[in-house]
Amino acid sequence: MKIDITEMTPTKAQFVISDTNPAFANALRRVITSDVPKMAIDNVEFHLGPIMDEKGQAFESVSPMFDEVVAHRLSMVPVPTDLETFNFRSKCSCNGEGCPSCTIMYSLNKKGPCTVYSGDLEPVGDAKFRIKDDLIPIVKLSDDQALLIYATAELGTGKQHAKWQAAIGAGYRFFAKIEIDHAKCDLGSSCVKVCPKGVLAKEEKKIVAKHPEKCNLCRACVEVCDAGVIKVSPIPGKILFRFETDGSLQAKEVLTRGLRALEEKFDGLREQISTLEE
Ligand SMILES: [Zn+2]
Repeated sequence: MKIDITEMTPTKAQFVISDTNPAFANALRRVITSDVPKMAIDNVEFHLGPIMDEKGQAFESVSPMFDEVVAHRLSMVPVPTDLETFNFRSKCSCNGEGCPSCTIMYSLNKKGPCTVYSGDLEPVGDAKFRIKDDLIPIVKLSDDQALLIYATAELGTGKQHAKWQAAIGAGYRFFAKIEIDHAKCDLGSSCVKVCPKGVLAKEEKKIVAKHPEKCNLCRACVEVCDAGVIKVSPIPGKILFRFETDGSLQAKEVLTRGLRALEEKFDGLREQISTLEE
């Protein structure tokens, strides 16, 4: 098996896996969406009763939305995750009490009229946990309304809830093989125009497959070609895989953690089999 990385940014990965099969690609897809952990807000405490500002003005601690909706929106905010530092809360040495090794605490204190954004979550402690996507709108407060919140983020996996899903939009498809019979091609170029992905191009009096990695096997070029000279087929064993992250983790880390999780699963299986009687 061979992996060729074609795109790797902090939040996006695309690569071609050769000498493989859909079963392996699907195992990788499942493991990066449901087994790689990340941090997300899981507990939100709302202050009740009046909130005073410095000048002695009283605000009511309410917002136009139910607390549950505000809490849900906060839980979907990408929280910077350091998998080397954090443990699962249930497996932490604090016995699930919550400590700096398993939780990140945020405070939010806003008074209306204003829009509350994800960036208003202030980490209690290390500033490196400040929310990077700081302009996600949470709720709009009107005059005399205020929010005072303490939110706790902890590790979880996509298996438990989508807010803990490390990889987003993970998917794969067969790599396309595009064959053009140049001898019979009349250079009508209708195939170049009809391709929705810009795969084909006319270069030096020849139609060429310039970006085969972009082909999604829609076969629009095959259908439009009157001369019938284009052949598009999937290459068995060659798969294009891609996924994104919400920024909590780097795409590269999600991929390496996913592959490690797969390895561990099979190690467990191997150990169990080795204990079987011969
Ligand atoms: Zn702990």
